[in-house]
Amino acid sequence: MPIDPNFKSNRKLEGKHEGHDIWGPVNPPKVLGIHGSVVALDLDICTGEGTCIDVCPVAVFDWLNSPGHPTSEKKSDPIREPDCIYCMACETQCPEQAIKIIQP
Ligand code: SF4
Repeated sequence: MPIDPNFKSNRKLEGKHEGHDIWGPVNPPKVLGIHGSVVALDLDICTGEGTCIDVCPVAVFDWLNSPGHPTSEKKSDPIREPDCIYCMACETQCPEQAIKIIQP
């Protein structure tokens, strides 16, 4: 199931991580929510293949350990979200369709 493109309407803002927003629900370690509002990545869909880390030309993503999560024990995390140049490579190539780019 892909990321909900309307997550900003359908989810609640729960807080911040490394400067980016976290959209709930969040109940670690099994439910981690969506990280980011411009480069939004659904950590509960992410299977930790690292495609976005490989394809991003400006290194927006880094690894985040997620022990105990049902889909993978590591996730991509958009920790340098403000650096995004909206090339769309991550959104189009993510095998799980876990990423939505919302250009401000
Ligand atoms: S849209 Fe392009 S620049 Fe932005 S996070 Fe994705 S791969 Fe990186």
